[in-house]
Amino acid sequence: MHSQNQYGAAEGTGVDRQPIVAAAGEFLVSPFASGLLEVTEKAAGARPGLLLVEDDQDLSVMLTGLLTGEGYDVVTASDGQRALQLAVGGDFAVVLLDRGLPFVDGLEVLVRLRRRGWTTPVLVLSAYGAPPDRVAGLDAGAEDYLTKPFDVDELLARLRALQRRHRDEAVLLPVAGGLLDVAGRRVLPDDGSEPVNLSARESKLLEVLARRPGQVFLRADLRSRVFGDAEGDNIVDTYVHYLRRKLGRPVIRTVHSVGYQAGVVRPERR
Ligand code: CA
Repeated sequence: MHSQNQYGAAEGTGVDRQPIVAAAGEFLVSPFASGLLEVTEKAAGARPGLLLVEDDQDLSVMLTGLLTGEGYDVVTASDGQRALQLAVGGDFAVVLLDRGLPFVDGLEVLVRLRRRGWTTPVLVLSAYGAPPDRVAGLDAGAEDYLTKPFDVDELLARLRALQRRHRDEAVLLPVAGGLLDVAGRRVLPDDGSEPVNLSARESKLLEVLARRPGQVFLRADLRSRVFGDAEGDNIVDTYVHYLRRKLGRPVIRTVHSVGYQAGVVRPERR
């Protein structure tokens, strides 16, 4: 007999309630600013996006129903390759990631994403629950790790906690002419005028540049970091244009025949 609140576990067995320590770091960016959306761009306050990566169809369907009911905007991937594409191109508050996946293993997906500076919080949900498995998951860049079978209420609470923690670490990055409020996806101008709202992609592009002032980024590199591999390099030029139109030309410097870098920030902001 199954408890109503557990997935795949006979009552009283298997649910691991050991406290799990979140990995250090990776809490610098709001979940609402850490990804990008493929087609439409979400307004602040919209349903939080959740990427569910799970190859077990029954579990995926069950979780989709559950999480949608909890107010998440759920997007699913059933293999590691698709997960990579969606994670880079999407705008997610949180990712729920299985480990054993076709094509690219779940932890390998995570390592590749973290290596390119992707900061969306990840909860690994896996049947591999021994301490070394958890350590591997956290070391790969997961913020949290829950073992299958799991308690549904605990899963939901952990997802809420992850987003809270992430949001609390919102940052302001100096940019030419103001401060980029990463969590709020807006620039607060130095002259005290009204904040300038940015789309998810505009904010992400400016964030990548502003986090490494002085570094010159190749267009292909920016395209890969911000827009995903499905796009052409021209998309970078398009979004540089959008940002300059909103924030003034100096916000991004063109480095001729190389790429782009952040515009020069006022000395006292450095
Ligand atoms: Ca699996």
